Amino acid sequence: MNSLANNPDELSRRRFLASAGILTAGIILSPWEVLAQGGSPVTTIIAEAAKSPITIQKLKTGFNVLEGSGGNILVFNGPEGKMMVDAGIDVSKAKIKQALASISPKHVEHLISTHWHFDHASGNNWVHETGANIISQAITKKHLSQSVRVVDWNYTFPPAPAGALPTTLFEKDYAMNMNGETLRLQHYGPAHTDCDIFVHFENADVIHVADTFWNGYYPFIDYSTGGSIKGMLKAAIANVNRVSASTIVVPGHGPVGNKAQLIEFRDMLAAITHNVETLKKQGKSLAETVAAKPTKAFDAKWNNFVIKSDLFTYLVYRGV
Ligand SMILES: [Zn+2]
Repeated sequence: MNSLANNPDELSRRRFLASAGILTAGIILSPWEVLAQGGSPVTTIIAEAAKSPITIQKLKTGFNVLEGSGGNILVFNGPEGKMMVDAGIDVSKAKIKQALASISPKHVEHLISTHWHFDHASGNNWVHETGANIISQAITKKHLSQSVRVVDWNYTFPPAPAGALPTTLFEKDYAMNMNGETLRLQHYGPAHTDCDIFVHFENADVIHVADTFWNGYYPFIDYSTGGSIKGMLKAAIANVNRVSASTIVVPGHGPVGNKAQLIEFRDMLAAITHNVETLKKQGKSLAETVAAKPTKAFDAKWNNFVIKSDLFTYLVYRGV
């Protein structure tokens, strides 16, 4: 495997898996275990989306969230048409189309991509084909245009089709009006990836914070495209500072939430970062740090989804 020798990240991950004994997988395979066996959670997540129904949750007049195809999709509807924030996974196309039609007959005029990941942007192409203009931070387009290997998913994404690429790009901030709303889009800087943005509908006070917030779950952090735990923490702090007690907060993953839950998430990230950093500074190896269970106090609440505590510890360890 020449590619391993040329890829220190992948080599160190596999050495860790072997040294930590995780290569002997349990009966129910977590993505971590799937990875250890040379598979990829991406394949599993796509297969789950293909089976999953799309549920529609109404937040307030004009605002609905679609769940069941990777990341949460926010749909904003009004007399000028629809806007989607993220497009989910392309295997859900028929079901998402049906959900959109059940909200109103209006077309999707704009699609905002919160970042480049497949579980938020692989539906871009078909949404564009229905006539939508795609808006994103500039780096999202760069990643979608190229082949990208995400080491911690053990997966190489091919370049997206031309129609999936955003055509309205911004660096730091973008503002627009639609259906009587004022929208503010802003780049976080490096966080979960290097191209994450929030989309804040300021009058309705609804915000989609992309994958900088996983409500009730340990988050994935994509070091392959510029994410880091320190950046995640910075974004979590920025989210808490931006919202009020009445803001409706749409996370990348997990149920729609509020400021109190953003605070819990920020505090969880801060505490685990501190715990892992302390162990690393004491000279503990990755395997020793995982064995010390630095997430233990938080597992009952957060260890319930794709990113399990051992994998999350590894993701934090990399960045402290
Ligand atoms: Zn993501």
